[in-house]
Order: sequence, then C-alpha cells, then structure tokens
Amino acid sequence: RLRYTHTSTRTYATLAESRNARINAFVHFSNGSEPGQVSPDGPLSGMTIAVKDNICTSDMPTTCSSLMLKGAPGTTSLYRTGPDFQPDFSSPYDATVVQLLRTAGAKIVGKTNCDEFGMGSLNQCSVHGPVINPFGESESRSAGGSSGGSAAAVATGLCDAALGTDTGGSIRLPASYCGVVGLKPSYGLLSRWGVVSFADSLDCVGIIAKDIESAESVFDCLNIYDPRDPTAATQEVRGKALKSVLSDFLDTGSLSGLRIGIPSDYFPRELHPSVVDPLRALLADLKAHGASMVSVSLPSTPYALSAYYVIASAEASSNLARYDGVQYGLHVETPPGSDKRKTASVYSHSRSRGFGPEVKRRILLGTYALTADAFDNYFLQAQRVRKLVRRDFDRVFRAPDVLSTHLETNQAGVDILIHPSAIRTAPQLDRDSTGSEPNLDSYLQDVLTVPASLAGLPALSVPMGFGEDGWPVGVSLVGQWGHEKTILNLAKVLG
Ligand code: GLN
Repeated sequence: RLRYTHTSTRTYATLAESRNARINAFVHFSNGSEPGQVSPDGPLSGMTIAVKDNICTSDMPTTCSSLMLKGAPGTTSLYRTGPDFQPDFSSPYDATVVQLLRTAGAKIVGKTNCDEFGMGSLNQCSVHGPVINPFGESESRSAGGSSGGSAAAVATGLCDAALGTDTGGSIRLPASYCGVVGLKPSYGLLSRWGVVSFADSLDCVGIIAKDIESAESVFDCLNIYDPRDPTAATQEVRGKALKSVLSDFLDTGSLSGLRIGIPSDYFPRELHPSVVDPLRALLADLKAHGASMVSVSLPSTPYALSAYYVIASAEASSNLARYDGVQYGLHVETPPGSDKRKTASVYSHSRSRGFGPEVKRRILLGTYALTADAFDNYFLQAQRVRKLVRRDFDRVFRAPDVLSTHLETNQAGVDILIHPSAIRTAPQLDRDSTGSEPNLDSYLQDVLTVPASLAGLPALSVPMGFGEDGWPVGVSLVGQWGHEKTILNLAKVLG
C-alpha cells in the first residue's frame, strides 16, 4: 500500500501513475496542493481519499467521464479559450462532501473514472476508456460501475477510501467485483450539493474503502445536514432514526436477539450458484453467534429493475437537458451551409457529439416515458412500483420508517437483511464493445441493488470470500432508513 505524505508527494505521483496505467482507475491526479485549510489533526488526518469524477472539486477538473465536459480538440467554447480547443470543465467550488473531507484532514489524491454521468454497471461507458479490475493480473475483467474507478483505486492500494455515487447500485456492485467495502447511505443523509445529478430522487454519495472502519470514519465526517441540499434529511428525522438504531450487540459480542432476514426473492434465476456458497457460510457463522435467521418475502422485487430504469432515465432526461452547448458543456458549431441562427442546431450538434450512446439511450427512454402518451403507463406505473417496494421493506423491518407517519415497531420484524450483492463475480470486459448496442446483461447486474435504492435504504457491500472462478464475492447488509450504524456494527462483528 502506498503511503501519501507531504514529503512524498512526488514519489506517490510516480508510483500511482505507473500503477494506474493498467487499471485506468484515476483520470486525474492531484498536484498535492490542497486549496484552503487542511486540518493536520482532524479525524481523517493522514487518510488518502479519491473522488469520483462526477463530484465537483475546485482544484481538479470534473468531467463525469463525458466528452460533454471533457476537453475536446476541434470544438469551440463560447466562453473560454480559442477556437480549437475546449478545456476540461473545472468547477469553481468544492462539493460539500469534498469540503468536509478536506476540513477533516483527508488528502484528496485524485479523480476517478466512472461510467458517463454514472450510467452503467461495468465502467465501460467512459470517454476515458474502461477501468480494469485490479484483482487479477492475467485477465481483463470489469471493475464494475459506475464507480469502478473508485473501487479499483481502493482495491489496488492507491488510496484508503474513495467517494462514489450510487443511484441504483454503483457503489455496491464495483465494491463487490473488486473485493472492497462499499457503503450506500440512506437517501438524503450525505449532501449532494456539488454532485452532478443523474437521477435526483435516487442519487446518493457513498463510500468505498479498504475496510469497515475506514468506511465508517469517512461516513461519520460526511453525515451532516447541509442546508444547501434541498433533498437533505432534516435534523429531526436524523434524530428519530438514531433513537431506533441497534448497537448493543457490538459491545457484548453476542448476536443473540438480532433477527436477520434472508429475502427469498433475492435468489433469481440469473444468480450464479457459486456466489451463494460464501453467503451460506456467513449465515451459519451468524447463527453460531446467536442471531436468528428469518426467511422473508419482498414480493415487489421482480418489478424493481424495470421501475428503476424508467424513473432513473426520466429524471436523467430532465437533468441532462442543461447541457445545451451554450450555457453548459461542449459547444459544436453547426457545419458549414446550415443555418447558424438556429440555436437548435447548436443544441443538437453539441449533444450528438458530446453524449455517448448509453447516455443518449437513457435520454430517449426517459423523454419517452414522460410524454403525455406514455406517462401513465410508464412513469406513473414505475412510481407505484416504487411505493410497493418501499412498503415491502417496511413490512419486514422491526424498526419503523422514520420518514413515514406510522411509527409502530414490528416486534416480529427483522433488524437487517442479508443477500448477495451481485448475481456473479466480475464479468469479462468486452474490449470490442463500442457501446452503440445496449448491453442488456449490464442492466441485469443491478437486479439485487436497485430495490434498496428505490426505497432509499442504507446498504453495505462487504467482501465475503470468492466464487468458483477465484474472484471476489460481495454480500450486502441492508437496514431500515438511518440505520447505518446497525449494518456497520454487524459488518464489524463479521470481521
Ligand atoms: N447501473 C445503474 C444504471 O446504469 C446504476 C448506476 C448508478 O448507480 N449510478 O443506471
């Protein structure tokens, strides 16, 4: 593992660049000069943290892995340099989460590769090229997406932790494929101010780390109400959730009284049998520690994936409308001979060139789902499914959902749900894929992660052994809203 200290910035940079050459996890390294005050004795002092490239940093570019925001030759910017080259987009400010990390003493070492605007499961849809999973030297497998660069950076020891975003699984899937820890917190806990929106009602900033303790210390520093984020959970609901969190079992070391739910609907046909073995071993171990296992049913699970793709695409189509080539993003002049007075031409030329094929597919799908003809059948229907998914979780958890008005405790309910994080180990990278054809297999990778996203629940993927191919397998712990401490504490017991 590389240590990154004030005195060895240059050594770090040289080593990191050579190590990054194969895996392509970083798209930008910090030059070591932190803007503003870095606290030398803050809680994260000495910790190295990488930041996904869709989170704004004032000292490094933010490209979202898209040509729309990345410097491109042969294009012009209406508001920046000369006619032939547009520089990478650089934000004038730090996202709140980045500010908090710096204030806590962490060193931000660089920006990490991701799927374009967070859309993808394999980190193959990036203008910077794919991320290669560092686990195996001899094979080129996916690091998972969309926060694949963050997971690979941690797995290869280039940083202690990394920020990512998770809209439908983008923290948990890469964490599982790369054999590291990935925490998607409850929706609304960590600030999204300065985080580039994909689908606002689902987007969460999350943490990928080498171990549970590092993930927890970063989470603790970021878990602060931010008035600049209009979707931030209020102080009042945060307080209510804390009251219902279970933490006793960590002190005693015994899990007696803890009820663990195994959702029977999380073992679909597509699940590779070899990812189930590590889970079985884990459950046996938990039982030996005194926890009781309860089989539970979340019957709306099979509809969650379709509902997710409708809702996420609808919100993305609206969010991405801002990249018009005039106020935001790449500006492409209309070709000679066309009517330059028509703004629509600049708009369509800029967007045709700036967005990759996956982003275009989402914009088309989302725009369609929001049209008057399709709205009821697609968008509203998906919202109904989302409610049912949420209701399924509320029915099985012992603790009440503090965001709803029913605050009754369900004594027969469970405290934590456990299921495989992904249906398989990391898939092979398809080097020939140009992304122009939709990769349905890629959509399917999220089948086990999207329900917690639709419901806004905290979920933690922890590495749990290996599949029969010898690649890492992850197991997810899911809790009621605001119950990060319950799942983190159980994960610590698991060691
Ligand atoms: N793979 C999912 C998608 O492409 C989730 C992405 C994410 O969580 N950012 O939408």
